[in-house]
Amino acid sequence: VTFKDLGVVDVLCEACEELKWKKPSKIQKESIPVALQGKDIIGLAETGSGKTGAFALPILQALLENPQRYFALILTPTRELAFQISEQFEALGASIGVKCAVIVGGMDMVAQALTLSKKPHIIIATPGRLVDHLENTKGFNLKALKYLVMDEADRILNMDFEVEVDKILRVIPRERRTYLFSATMTKKVQKLQRASLQDPVKVEV
Ligand code: AMP
Repeated sequence: VTFKDLGVVDVLCEACEELKWKKPSKIQKESIPVALQGKDIIGLAETGSGKTGAFALPILQALLENPQRYFALILTPTRELAFQISEQFEALGASIGVKCAVIVGGMDMVAQALTLSKKPHIIIATPGRLVDHLENTKGFNLKALKYLVMDEADRILNMDFEVEVDKILRVIPRERRTYLFSATMTKKVQKLQRASLQDPVKVEV
Protein backbone atom coordinates (compact mmCIF):
# COMPACT_ATOMS: atom_id res chain seq x y z
CA VAL A 1 0.00 0.00 0.00
CA THR A 2 1.26 3.48 -0.89
CA PHE A 3 0.21 6.92 0.36
CA LYS A 4 -1.35 7.47 -3.06
CA ASP A 5 -3.46 4.30 -2.62
CA LEU A 6 -4.85 5.82 0.58
CA GLY A 7 -6.04 8.89 -1.34
CA VAL A 8 -3.18 11.26 -0.53
CA VAL A 9 -2.68 13.87 -3.27
CA ASP A 10 0.55 13.87 -5.32
CA VAL A 11 2.13 16.95 -3.78
CA LEU A 12 1.87 15.39 -0.31
CA CYS A 13 3.02 11.95 -1.54
CA GLU A 14 6.13 13.71 -2.82
CA ALA A 15 6.63 15.33 0.60
CA CYS A 16 6.47 11.86 2.21
CA GLU A 17 9.06 10.62 -0.27
CA GLU A 18 11.37 13.49 0.62
CA LEU A 19 11.06 12.54 4.29
CA LYS A 20 11.93 8.94 3.25
CA TRP A 21 8.53 7.74 4.37
CA LYS A 22 8.49 4.85 1.90
CA LYS A 23 5.12 3.45 2.89
CA PRO A 24 2.37 4.33 5.35
CA SER A 25 2.67 3.04 8.92
CA LYS A 26 -0.18 0.95 10.30
CA ILE A 27 -1.94 3.86 12.02
CA GLN A 28 -1.58 5.93 8.84
CA LYS A 29 -3.05 3.11 6.73
CA GLU A 30 -6.06 2.91 9.01
CA SER A 31 -6.62 6.60 9.74
CA ILE A 32 -5.93 8.45 6.50
CA PRO A 33 -8.77 6.97 4.37
CA VAL A 34 -11.23 7.47 7.23
CA ALA A 35 -10.09 11.06 7.73
CA LEU A 36 -10.31 11.79 4.00
CA GLN A 37 -13.94 10.61 4.11
CA GLY A 38 -14.60 13.42 6.57
CA LYS A 39 -15.09 11.26 9.67
CA ASP A 40 -14.04 11.96 13.24
CA ILE A 41 -11.40 9.57 14.58
CA ILE A 42 -10.53 8.12 17.93
CA GLY A 43 -7.07 6.62 17.59
CA LEU A 44 -5.35 4.35 20.07
CA ALA A 45 -1.69 4.81 19.25
CA GLU A 46 1.58 5.66 20.90
CA THR A 47 4.37 8.03 19.95
CA GLY A 48 6.57 6.35 17.37
CA SER A 49 3.61 4.85 15.51
CA GLY A 50 3.53 7.66 12.95
CA LYS A 51 0.33 9.14 14.39
CA THR A 52 1.42 12.70 13.61
CA GLY A 53 1.47 11.88 9.91
CA ALA A 54 -1.88 10.13 10.32
CA PHE A 55 -3.55 13.42 11.22
CA ALA A 56 -1.21 15.89 9.52
CA LEU A 57 -1.61 14.51 5.99
CA PRO A 58 -5.45 14.67 5.90
CA ILE A 59 -5.41 18.13 7.50
CA LEU A 60 -2.86 19.43 4.96
CA GLN A 61 -4.88 17.91 2.15
CA ALA A 62 -8.01 19.70 3.37
CA LEU A 63 -6.02 22.92 3.76
CA LEU A 64 -4.94 22.69 0.11
CA GLU A 65 -8.61 22.75 -0.91
CA ASN A 66 -9.51 25.53 1.51
CA PRO A 67 -6.47 27.66 2.40
CA GLN A 68 -7.61 29.48 5.48
CA ARG A 69 -5.98 31.01 8.55
CA TYR A 70 -6.49 29.30 11.93
CA PHE A 71 -7.54 26.17 10.03
CA ALA A 72 -6.46 23.53 12.54
CA LEU A 73 -5.63 23.37 16.24
CA ILE A 74 -3.45 20.60 17.61
CA LEU A 75 -3.52 20.28 21.40
CA THR A 76 -0.62 18.43 23.02
CA PRO A 77 0.42 17.88 26.63
CA THR A 78 4.00 19.15 26.38
CA ARG A 79 6.20 21.75 24.77
CA GLU A 80 8.57 19.10 23.32
CA LEU A 81 5.73 17.29 21.63
CA ALA A 82 4.38 20.57 20.25
CA PHE A 83 7.69 21.35 18.55
CA GLN A 84 7.97 17.81 17.17
CA ILE A 85 4.48 18.05 15.67
CA SER A 86 5.23 21.47 14.21
CA GLU A 87 8.38 20.10 12.55
CA GLN A 88 6.40 17.35 10.87
CA PHE A 89 3.69 19.75 9.65
CA GLU A 90 6.34 22.08 8.27
CA ALA A 91 8.25 19.28 6.57
CA LEU A 92 5.13 17.74 5.03
CA GLY A 93 3.66 21.12 4.11
CA ALA A 94 6.83 22.89 2.94
CA SER A 95 5.94 22.88 -0.76
CA ILE A 96 2.41 24.15 -0.11
CA GLY A 97 3.58 27.03 2.09
CA VAL A 98 1.96 25.98 5.33
CA LYS A 99 2.43 28.36 8.26
CA CYS A 100 2.50 26.91 11.78
CA ALA A 101 2.57 28.55 15.20
CA VAL A 102 3.72 26.80 18.36
CA ILE A 103 1.96 28.25 21.41
CA VAL A 104 3.32 26.71 24.62
CA GLY A 105 3.93 27.74 28.21
CA GLY A 106 7.20 29.14 29.47
CA MET A 107 7.75 31.33 26.44
CA ASP A 108 7.14 35.00 25.73
CA MET A 109 3.42 35.88 25.45
CA VAL A 110 4.05 39.00 23.38
CA ALA A 111 6.16 37.18 20.81
CA GLN A 112 3.50 34.49 20.60
CA ALA A 113 0.75 37.10 20.13
CA LEU A 114 2.76 38.50 17.23
CA THR A 115 3.07 35.02 15.71
CA LEU A 116 -0.68 34.55 16.03
CA SER A 117 -1.35 37.93 14.39
CA LYS A 118 0.46 36.63 11.31
CA LYS A 119 -2.46 34.27 10.81
CA PRO A 120 -0.92 30.80 10.76
CA HIS A 121 -2.85 27.91 9.21
CA ILE A 122 -1.96 25.45 11.96
CA ILE A 123 -1.67 26.16 15.68
CA ILE A 124 0.08 23.59 17.84
CA ALA A 125 -0.50 24.38 21.49
CA THR A 126 -0.52 23.27 25.08
CA PRO A 127 -3.98 23.95 26.55
CA GLY A 128 -3.03 26.38 29.34
CA ARG A 129 -1.15 28.84 27.18
CA LEU A 130 -3.71 28.68 24.40
CA VAL A 131 -6.49 29.65 26.84
CA ASP A 132 -4.29 32.53 28.00
CA HIS A 133 -4.19 33.85 24.45
CA LEU A 134 -7.89 33.25 23.82
CA GLU A 135 -8.63 35.36 26.90
CA ASN A 136 -5.96 38.05 26.53
CA THR A 137 -4.74 38.42 22.96
CA LYS A 138 -6.77 41.00 21.06
CA GLY A 139 -8.06 39.92 17.67
CA PHE A 140 -7.32 36.23 18.20
CA ASN A 141 -10.13 33.72 18.16
CA LEU A 142 -10.82 30.26 16.77
CA LYS A 143 -14.28 30.91 15.32
CA ALA A 144 -13.22 29.70 11.87
CA LEU A 145 -11.48 26.52 13.04
CA LYS A 146 -12.11 23.46 10.85
CA TYR A 147 -10.01 20.76 12.56
CA LEU A 148 -9.25 19.95 16.20
CA VAL A 149 -6.70 17.31 17.16
CA MET A 150 -6.19 16.22 20.73
CA ASP A 151 -2.89 14.37 20.75
CA GLU A 152 -1.93 12.17 23.70
CA ALA A 153 -5.30 12.97 25.23
CA ASP A 154 -4.66 10.73 28.24
CA ARG A 155 -1.58 12.77 29.13
CA ILE A 156 -3.39 16.08 28.54
CA LEU A 157 -6.03 15.01 31.04
CA ASN A 158 -3.53 13.54 33.53
CA MET A 159 -1.79 16.92 33.57
CA ASP A 160 -5.02 18.50 34.82
CA PHE A 161 -5.76 20.44 31.66
CA GLU A 162 -9.43 19.37 31.81
CA VAL A 163 -10.75 22.85 32.58
CA GLU A 164 -8.68 24.40 29.78
CA VAL A 165 -9.79 21.80 27.25
CA ASP A 166 -13.43 22.46 28.19
CA LYS A 167 -12.89 26.20 27.72
CA ILE A 168 -11.36 25.60 24.28
CA LEU A 169 -14.23 23.30 23.24
CA ARG A 170 -16.68 26.06 24.13
CA VAL A 171 -15.13 28.67 21.82
CA ILE A 172 -14.52 26.60 18.68
CA PRO A 173 -17.17 25.75 16.09
CA ARG A 174 -19.30 22.64 16.53
CA GLU A 175 -19.09 22.22 12.77
CA ARG A 176 -15.58 20.79 12.58
CA ARG A 177 -13.69 17.53 12.36
CA THR A 178 -12.06 16.16 15.50
CA TYR A 179 -9.31 13.58 15.92
CA LEU A 180 -8.52 12.28 19.38
CA PHE A 181 -5.38 10.21 19.84
CA SER A 182 -4.47 8.50 23.08
CA ALA A 183 -2.16 5.70 24.19
CA THR A 184 -4.70 4.50 26.74
CA MET A 185 -8.48 4.60 26.95
CA THR A 186 -9.18 5.90 30.43
CA LYS A 187 -12.52 7.00 31.93
CA LYS A 188 -11.49 10.63 31.46
CA VAL A 189 -10.62 10.04 27.81
CA GLN A 190 -14.01 8.40 27.26
CA LYS A 191 -15.72 11.41 28.79
CA LEU A 192 -13.73 13.76 26.55
CA GLN A 193 -14.56 11.57 23.57
CA ARG A 194 -18.28 11.93 24.28
CA ALA A 195 -17.95 15.68 24.71
CA SER A 196 -15.93 16.37 21.58
CA LEU A 197 -16.35 13.75 18.84
CA GLN A 198 -19.29 13.10 16.52
CA ASP A 199 -19.88 9.50 15.47
CA PRO A 200 -16.14 8.69 15.49
CA VAL A 201 -14.42 5.77 13.80
CA LYS A 202 -12.07 3.93 16.13
CA VAL A 203 -8.62 3.01 14.85
CA GLU A 204 -6.13 0.94 16.78
CA VAL A 205 -2.61 -0.26 16.18
P1 AMP B 1 5.20 9.96 15.51
O1 AMP B 1 4.68 8.65 16.05
O2 AMP B 1 4.17 10.67 14.72
O3 AMP B 1 5.80 10.81 16.58
O4 AMP B 1 6.37 9.63 14.45
C1 AMP B 1 7.54 8.99 14.85
C2 AMP B 1 8.63 9.10 13.78
O5 AMP B 1 8.30 8.28 12.65
C3 AMP B 1 8.85 10.49 13.24
O6 AMP B 1 10.23 10.74 13.22
C4 AMP B 1 8.32 10.43 11.82
O7 AMP B 1 9.06 11.27 10.96
C5 AMP B 1 8.51 8.99 11.45
N1 AMP B 1 7.49 8.49 10.48
C6 AMP B 1 6.17 8.78 10.46
N2 AMP B 1 5.55 8.14 9.46
C7 AMP B 1 6.47 7.40 8.83
C8 AMP B 1 6.43 6.50 7.70
N3 AMP B 1 5.30 6.25 7.05
N4 AMP B 1 7.60 5.91 7.32
C9 AMP B 1 8.74 6.15 7.99
N5 AMP B 1 8.86 7.00 9.06
C10 AMP B 1 7.73 7.61 9.48
